[in-house]
Amino acid sequence: MTDILDVLVVGGGPVGACAAALLVRGCEGGAGRVAVLEPKRPRLPPSESPIDPRVVAISRASERILDAAGAWSLVSGLSMDGCGVRAARLCPYERMRVWHESVAPDSPGTLVFDAADVGEPNLGYIVESRVLQAALLDAFSDAGGSIEAAHLQALHVRADCVNVETSGGPLAARLVIGADGAQSAVRQAVGLSVEVSDYRQTAIVATVATERPHAGTAWQRFMRNGTLAFLPLADGTSSIVWSADNEVAGELLAAPAVDFAVELDKASALALGATRLVSERASVPLRRLAAHHYVAQRIALLGDAAHVVHPLAGQGVNLGMLDSAALAQLLLAARGEREDPGALRVLRRYERWRKSEVALMGAAIEAFDRFLAHGSGPLSRLAQQGLGWVNRSQQIKRLFIQRALGVTGELPLAARRGS
Ligand SMILES: Cc1cc2nc3c(=O)[nH]c(=O)nc-3n(C[C@H](O)[C@H](O)[C@H](O)COP(=O)(O)OP(=O)(O)OC[C@H]3O[C@@H](n4cnc5c(N)ncnc54)[C@H](O)[C@@H]3O)c2cc1C
Repeated sequence: MTDILDVLVVGGGPVGACAAALLVRGCEGGAGRVAVLEPKRPRLPPSESPIDPRVVAISRASERILDAAGAWSLVSGLSMDGCGVRAARLCPYERMRVWHESVAPDSPGTLVFDAADVGEPNLGYIVESRVLQAALLDAFSDAGGSIEAAHLQALHVRADCVNVETSGGPLAARLVIGADGAQSAVRQAVGLSVEVSDYRQTAIVATVATERPHAGTAWQRFMRNGTLAFLPLADGTSSIVWSADNEVAGELLAAPAVDFAVELDKASALALGATRLVSERASVPLRRLAAHHYVAQRIALLGDAAHVVHPLAGQGVNLGMLDSAALAQLLLAARGEREDPGALRVLRRYERWRKSEVALMGAAIEAFDRFLAHGSGPLSRLAQQGLGWVNRSQQIKRLFIQRALGVTGELPLAARRGS
């Protein structure tokens, strides 16, 4: 007979690994009761290896959650050499410059967010996805958690537990957390329905060298047919995320590197001078996804398994980390009350909490895409001018910066200052 785990996390991506690490660190003597099912475990890369083009911008809230999960020292430790000098891996960014193609990048119509305006050292960090994931899985296993290198094949929800069939053998748990990404097998196995809309856009991701230094700044240009972001990397190069209509993206991906750089220079209005590709181009088709319910009896969905948002605001992982911290907090409280972690009444608290927060952020991102990245009507013109107006109001700018730092809304304890 298989031992029954308290929690099985299916998918050890950054979000699932984060939930698992928080749970294991929060429950004394309970490490053996939490396991992660993850077929592709990355390792922390050697410090001299090139930076992977798949990077994410993480917020202050995520930094605090990573710290609570025991992973921040592993992520940030990579950026320090023996003398405490930053080396080429993790990049803090101090400013953001956001502008519409109807104005020049250095015009007063450009919205500039500066960490100094809110007394912060930076607005967040750019970090490789694989580093985030590897550090969180290491923090989980260092705290005694076990990682099964297998994938989910089927699951059956029973009255007292979930029986799980995996490529590595059977498992059973009182709660199964589905953190297995946008195509979640957990979500599909239990029939949790989703609303999906196709943006008809593809994100092109690559690393580029630029003529002028990025100056610790994230740059974002809204255009009539998409958005282009430059995220600063610690070795002086920048990671681009160019979300373009599918047809345009197809041509950009097929173009020789030199021609691609010419198009990139036009799209960036040479904000950082001329560019040169220094990595392969990767592409991701963009879809929005929202699960109608995040929970069912003995099941909870986290991160991209529950919601996928447009990458223009760089919020996917950040929302997922907040999901992880909220669920872990509620499960640890339930454990203190000797409640069953799979009980629907416990899980519904999580759903009520996070669904409304995600919906707020999702609506803001949709508005940016509709009015700034695509629209051409009066509302779009208003939104475009709005960037300049916001730029002139310190008070409104501060509100936006707090949002970007992820320190507003109903925060889990792990995301709060000094927790
Ligand atoms: C171009 C682009 C740029 C982005 N930039 C940002 C950014 O700047 N900031 C930000 O916050 N977000 C960003 N995002 C979003 C972010 O990448 C995702 O939200 C994030 O990766 C979701 O993490 P996750 O752990 O939920 O899912 P995933 O990263 O998809 O991980 C799922 C895990 O589940 C495992 N898995 C899958 N199926 C199974 C199975 N059957 N059994 C067991 N395991 C399984 C997989 O191996 C994987 O490890 C960006 C996204 C894109 C496309």
